[in-house]
Amino acid sequence: MRLHNKFAKFLTIIIVSIGLVGCNEYKKVDMIVHNATIYSVDDGMNTFEAMAINDGRIVELGPENQILNKYSSDQKIDAQKNFIYPGFIDAHSHFLGYGLTRNQVDLIGTQSFSEVLDRIDQYIQNNPNQNWIIGRGWDQNDWEIKEYPTNEVLNTRFPNKHIIMKRVDGHAMLVSNSVIELADISNLTQVPGGEILKIDGLLSGLLIDEAMTLVERIIPEPSVEHKTTCLVRAENDCFQVGLTSVCDAGLKVSEIELINQLHENGRLKMRVYAMYSADPILSKNLGSFGIKTERLNAKSVKVYCDGALGSRGAFLLETYSDDSLKEGSLITGSDSLRKWAELCLKDSFQLCVHCIGDAANRITLDVMGQVLGETNDRRWRIEHAQVVNQTDQQKFASFNVIPSMQPSHATSDMYWAEERLGAERIKNAYTLKSLLNQNGMIALGTDFPVESIDPLNTFYSAVVRKDKSKLPGWRLQP
Ligand SMILES: [Zn+2]
Repeated sequence: MRLHNKFAKFLTIIIVSIGLVGCNEYKKVDMIVHNATIYSVDDGMNTFEAMAINDGRIVELGPENQILNKYSSDQKIDAQKNFIYPGFIDAHSHFLGYGLTRNQVDLIGTQSFSEVLDRIDQYIQNNPNQNWIIGRGWDQNDWEIKEYPTNEVLNTRFPNKHIIMKRVDGHAMLVSNSVIELADISNLTQVPGGEILKIDGLLSGLLIDEAMTLVERIIPEPSVEHKTTCLVRAENDCFQVGLTSVCDAGLKVSEIELINQLHENGRLKMRVYAMYSADPILSKNLGSFGIKTERLNAKSVKVYCDGALGSRGAFLLETYSDDSLKEGSLITGSDSLRKWAELCLKDSFQLCVHCIGDAANRITLDVMGQVLGETNDRRWRIEHAQVVNQTDQQKFASFNVIPSMQPSHATSDMYWAEERLGAERIKNAYTLKSLLNQNGMIALGTDFPVESIDPLNTFYSAVVRKDKSKLPGWRLQP
């Protein structure tokens, strides 16, 4: 009996010891997230319930019990079955532009021109000392009267302000007469690649594509401090929706340098892939530009070949179905495009060309093909690739060109795109799947602030081709 007791005591000591050793084996980490659906994007596209994080890196992903039994942490987050995704990358956005817009008059979602006027009113009340009133986001396609507005009411209601209201796509603007005067625009002014709208021979205040440059060059440049504030604000918004990297599709040299400085002094953390806006200053010695750090990669040039579909600036092979006099605006023709392509090839820059219309896509694909040849690994891109004629689609594969597309453009434009293009040509528009199949790769983005910054909208539009309405999927591709 005594022996038996002794044995029991010995056994207890062993069990307690094992228990203690077991406790010691918990690995301490900075954070544990559990009770979640975590998309790992590993080779098998597996999802997991929990993860352990240390020094800013994921140490392990696994089932709930596996992680909770192996790790301990002072910071344990119960995700309550929510979804967790890896950081998103937006392949085409306007990061600084979005930040600037956040401090301007927000015209997104306006249902009428009078709502535009009300929002301007409100903004002026909140910023009474500001003389330049800039806004963005109206879309006449969302209004009951789907016609371009004129500036008459702007002139009478806000006589002492310089008003500039950009369309949602950034390819058209309505400006007040005071701006027209400052910009020296008259009835006779003409701008290649742009249009200055007139009604009964009088300027209406509406400028399209390159005509906007007459106004853009007289707008006082925002200060470096203001741009900094806007970048930080944009970063904050982007982090909220899970974006950890953004491509900025067109920045000035000084703006790219500012982002680099803000990375260096720790004010900005967002990883940025920055495209230099095509500018004569670059063409003199492109090779002397370019920055590559852990958070900034600037080694590409952005060129606009044409305008946008909504403002009938997209350059089409045949005239618009809802305006037989228009075929759109060619902003950069093939000669000039070829010069940029040759410069980029020589100095190993990536060339990214904005092409919406089928004519713009054809011109750019042909120039890229002539300059690159068939076998190349330059990863040149066509931004938007929105309307691509059937005969041109295989050129993406032939010349190894990446289509950089925005699925939410399809679901925003679905209400009016067919009016612009007609029943036949619409079949060549927003063909994400066909273009994905060319090289087996596609770059997806939002083009924010043209669309909302939320990358989940992009996936939703890409997969089911719906917006938030209850409408069935639009032109789903097999
Ligand atoms: Zn863009």
